[in-house]
Amino acid sequence: MGNAGESWDDEYDVVVAGSGAGAMAGALAAASAGLRTAVLEKTGVLGGTSAYSGSAIWLPGTRVQERAGIGDSTEGARTYLRALIGDDTAAHREAFLETAPELVEFLEKDPAIEFEFQPFPDYYDAPGRLAMGRSFVPLPLPAERLGDLAGLVRPPVDRDRAGRGHSASKPLVQGRALIGRLLLAITATGHGTVRTRTALTGLLTEKGQVTGVTAATAHGPVRLRARRGVLLAAGGFESSAALRQERGVPGGAGWTMAPDGANTGDAITAATAVGASTGLLDQAWFCPGVLTPDGLPAFTLGLRGGLIVDGSGRRFANESLPYDQMGRRLAAAEGPFYLVFDARSEGLPAISVPPVRLDEQVASGTWIQAGTLEELAAKTGLPSGALTATVERFNGFAEKGVDEDFHRGEDPYDLFFSGGRSCLAAVAEPPYYAAEIVLSDLGTKGGLRTDPDGRVLDTAGGPVPGLYAAGNTSASFTGPVYPGPGIPIGSAMAFAYRAVQDMRR
Ligand code: FAD
Repeated sequence: MGNAGESWDDEYDVVVAGSGAGAMAGALAAASAGLRTAVLEKTGVLGGTSAYSGSAIWLPGTRVQERAGIGDSTEGARTYLRALIGDDTAAHREAFLETAPELVEFLEKDPAIEFEFQPFPDYYDAPGRLAMGRSFVPLPLPAERLGDLAGLVRPPVDRDRAGRGHSASKPLVQGRALIGRLLLAITATGHGTVRTRTALTGLLTEKGQVTGVTAATAHGPVRLRARRGVLLAAGGFESSAALRQERGVPGGAGWTMAPDGANTGDAITAATAVGASTGLLDQAWFCPGVLTPDGLPAFTLGLRGGLIVDGSGRRFANESLPYDQMGRRLAAAEGPFYLVFDARSEGLPAISVPPVRLDEQVASGTWIQAGTLEELAAKTGLPSGALTATVERFNGFAEKGVDEDFHRGEDPYDLFFSGGRSCLAAVAEPPYYAAEIVLSDLGTKGGLRTDPDGRVLDTAGGPVPGLYAAGNTSASFTGPVYPGPGIPIGSAMAFAYRAVQDMRR
């Protein structure tokens, strides 16, 4: 925190901290309105976790759903959100719903941006749910369209972790396509600049109004003026072990799916230093993660076979649950957790990001292979009698096609990833495998309290003038619920867009 004083190293209308989907959508809204805009990114590449993502975007009732003819509506989405979240955050819900169609129309007006519907069921059996969902994704982006800018977009998680860039011959897809398309659009306005290796370190104020930021760069600290406002969209604090512990977020900084060390709560810390208030700080977008040889997790979803046991060798949940719900079951149970499967799966009976290979996992000792269940129990340290009994009981359910314990396979979501077939498959053909599962997350979802226009609120409940937040830097209006695929990115973009509309007023 500090006073703005006189001298600035650079002056902008809008300064955006972070470069995920919310940050970039906000920057585009500002730059396309002719506002001189700077995107500050701490690392050397743009996109953060948003670039790693599948880029499903849950913005209901827009022209994309209309084109796809899926029968979506603002009203249906309201019914669904209301049933899940209640009315505590009704003003945010209404702002989100009102903005979704306008935001998508604004984005698709840009020649760089185009979306298409992608079937992916909503996550809860609640009124207003659409069985094939209502989310959409950006179209793949040929790398040539980005030219030299392609090197600025964070590569997919497997290549990024290995220190490799994008494949020169392949188009950017999913989260990379979203960030790449937003980057193209921002660049084309002529009013937006991206500054990588520039980390927000503090906020500058004049008479209680935020008028600029301090940032660390390779050439030393800089002071950047923001005439209209500062938008904080620099992720959550998932990679800070200390903040996670202080706030009681289950899982671990080493098990998050966010890019290594990127999101350490800097923006939240800077805002609280100027009087901002926070909420929901013990929450994250949770998921199961299968451990890979480098000790990092691979986001695991869509189980179509196998079963997960806890440290007692027993099942404790419907393993095919949507990942945030399964993550919450892991948080409540006692590990270590293993996904147990057999030769018939021909590898992990699930989707994982990054993809994992059976031979590599077994060779590295990350996954345990055994000829019998008793041997598997001995090698994992699980109680042999309990593990054998659990698998036997599960195989009985597989034979009947009915999971009497946890009702796996009864919800359309459970069946989506097994192509409509049963997701209960007997585990009976050696060799048997045990893959260790940890509680991972896609980012924390608690942070700065905001009003429905993204204005950061102080501890008395009033806005901090000139300060805005979106994405995982802010407390999500969804509370501890993850309603459907694309809510993190959809809501980050919607509130960033609203923040910029407010700055323009
Ligand atoms: P990020 O996208 O992580 O961006 C934050 C950025 O801020 C980072 O680049 C970081 O380096 C930068 N930063 C941090 N500190 C500073 C600082 N001091 N100064 C400047 N910059 C800073 N969600 C969906 O909605 N749909 C999906 O399909 C989806 N799929 C996913 C798939 C995977 C594999 C993963 C890992 C996540 C997925 N998610 C998905 C979750 C979603 O990607 C994140 O929750 C969301 O992108 C977070 O957005 P954000 O802008 O808050 O943070």
